[in-house]
Amino acid sequence: MRDILPPESAQWNRVEHIAREVFKAYGFGEIRLPIFERARLFERSVGGETEIVSKELHMWIDSPRTNEALRQARNALVHEGWTDEQKVGEAHKRLIESINSGFFDSMGEVPRIVLRPEATASVCRAYIEHGMHTRPGNTKLYYIGPMFRRERPQKGRYRQFYQIGAEVLGQSDAPAIDAELVEMLLHFFARIGLDGCTLYYNSIGCRECRPKYVAALKAALEKVKDRLGPDSQRRIETNPLRVLDSKVESEQAVIETLPRITDHLCAACREHLAALKQQFALRGIEGTENWRLVRGLDYYTRTTFEITAPGLGSQNAVCGGGRYDGLVELLGGPPTKGIGFAIGTDRVMLSLAETGRLADTAACDVFVTWMGAAAQAHAIRLARKLRDTGFRVEVPAEEMKFRKSLDLANRLGARYALIIGENEIAAGRYALKRLADAVQKELTEGELLEFLKGDRAIG
Ligand code: AMP
Repeated sequence: MRDILPPESAQWNRVEHIAREVFKAYGFGEIRLPIFERARLFERSVGGETEIVSKELHMWIDSPRTNEALRQARNALVHEGWTDEQKVGEAHKRLIESINSGFFDSMGEVPRIVLRPEATASVCRAYIEHGMHTRPGNTKLYYIGPMFRRERPQKGRYRQFYQIGAEVLGQSDAPAIDAELVEMLLHFFARIGLDGCTLYYNSIGCRECRPKYVAALKAALEKVKDRLGPDSQRRIETNPLRVLDSKVESEQAVIETLPRITDHLCAACREHLAALKQQFALRGIEGTENWRLVRGLDYYTRTTFEITAPGLGSQNAVCGGGRYDGLVELLGGPPTKGIGFAIGTDRVMLSLAETGRLADTAACDVFVTWMGAAAQAHAIRLARKLRDTGFRVEVPAEEMKFRKSLDLANRLGARYALIIGENEIAAGRYALKRLADAVQKELTEGELLEFLKGDRAIG
């Protein structure tokens, strides 16, 4: 986890603001979701065998009964003469033993709560809970916020990270929906200035053809098991598709010989993929088909895609997404088609920084320097006018010598210093100094406002 501080946070705001603008133009509305949910939601949707759920959830038991049991266990330990440090550990151990032994089962299900590792499952839960299927047309939702996974931290991989995501839910699985979603994504990346993105896509089949493919893949993997590392060997049993994600150098040649989903798609899935390519072509979208793009989550069907960006090393995926027809139904809702994506904001920001694409982050446009009580009154009035027009303005809270004040303005990275002293007030003209080259102009109030507005238009 980390803190995001100014001026970096201004860059984050810019990116999120553009996401809101672009998504709005495509007819999406924002959904604000809770940060934690029941563990069961993700076990049923993302899948109990996926790493996200089996290893990476931040989970706890949220019940007054648990707290009470924990308190009682600790009290008992005090009487038994345990030290403080031992007590905490032992109390938790006894509590977990009592949970495991079914102590709570007689009182109903133990409420296991998790910090959300992703938001698609939550969006589907909300879709069902609020009967959104009765709304006209497709339901198009976007979200912005933190996600949590207990992963090994590294560059571009954090335990609290941020996603910007969108989902389309409804009755249609027309490939034009998939293609328009990708079009929106690419439009967003272009607007924020993230150049050099590459789109990869694939179809991972449906409930008809995927199980047959997975069986064929598993059989083929068993035959080459000895040539795979321990992680991939384990995945043959737990989640064979994930073997295709492997980046282990020595496994690459073996993986190339494995059966490909593209050759195992049913007629309907083949048609869907062909139509998707047509829809991409209609929109001028160029992508690379990649049969190994299976994505780690159980709920995906047919279209999957990923977008990579430069400057990120091995964690270079800035966005992942795909179709998940049937997920809403699996969670207890009506038959519904769905598709969505999640952008990793942390990685987008890293890529923008690494490729020198961060926008101007000056914290201050105009630094107003004043000396004397009369000048302070002018400074306050002018600062308000400029702020009203959207300029970032600093006014020193205490009187400062002009030299000191200009020095601070420079160090803050201000673009201009506005100098107000007795002479300026008497002449009715203020001195505006451009700090980059020390060029100075004497301007009336009206001229000053006009000049700064024009300057911003050029900037
Ligand atoms: P996923 O939900 O796994 O499909 O991830 C979608 C996107 O979120 C990825 O392409 C990454 O950009 C980002 N992402 C996933 N996990 C992390 C993490 N631990 N730290 C930072 N970004 C992440």
